[in-house]
Amino acid sequence: MARYTGAVCRLCRREKQKLFLKGDKCYLEKCPVDRRPTPPGMHGQGRSKTSEYGLQLREKQKVRRYYGVLESQFEKYYEMAAARKGKSGENLLSILETRLDNVVYRLGFAMSRPEARQLVLHAHFTVNGRKVNVPSYLVKPGDVVALNGKSQSLSKFKASIEANASRVPPKWLELDAANFSAKVVARPERDDIDLPIDEQLIVEYYSK
Ligand code: SF4
Repeated sequence: MARYTGAVCRLCRREKQKLFLKGDKCYLEKCPVDRRPTPPGMHGQGRSKTSEYGLQLREKQKVRRYYGVLESQFEKYYEMAAARKGKSGENLLSILETRLDNVVYRLGFAMSRPEARQLVLHAHFTVNGRKVNVPSYLVKPGDVVALNGKSQSLSKFKASIEANASRVPPKWLELDAANFSAKVVARPERDDIDLPIDEQLIVEYYSK
């Protein structure tokens, strides 16, 4: 399935929630979810009660859109999560959090996950000293993620870090802002993930 290239704000309106896909605009009054909190399209306002299946589907779609993951890739993540010990839903979120593009966003190098994805694709980051340009790369405890040497002189990154200074990275990432790097010190746990997600609905969706 192809990657969605339409207006991303429609995705938020469809999920009736801010997915923070646009950076600055998401925090301003002009965010369409704040201004028009109904799903897009001519039937947007008329949709009434949602079935149990509909709720499960929407939750899955919402999480997919938060992290910018395609359907087939999301299914693979779910299979990985189910194969791990512990709760599948929590494992799934933990895996998604460790995607390199999400790590770059969480560290404040980008204003949104889509922007972080672009930065990774353009090879601005290294993992353990080696350039990685794969947004879906999964980091693990002990890994060191860093802005590559050449990119460190780009004022855009300094500005990004300053603009995002109030966004504290999760405790599983140890940021060294002076050196534009961070160490992964643990696997993310459910409490570290500050998104309004009911992962049990996703487990039910895949259990059918
Ligand atoms: Fe979503 Fe951001 Fe657009 Fe608001 S501005 S609808 S949060 S992408």
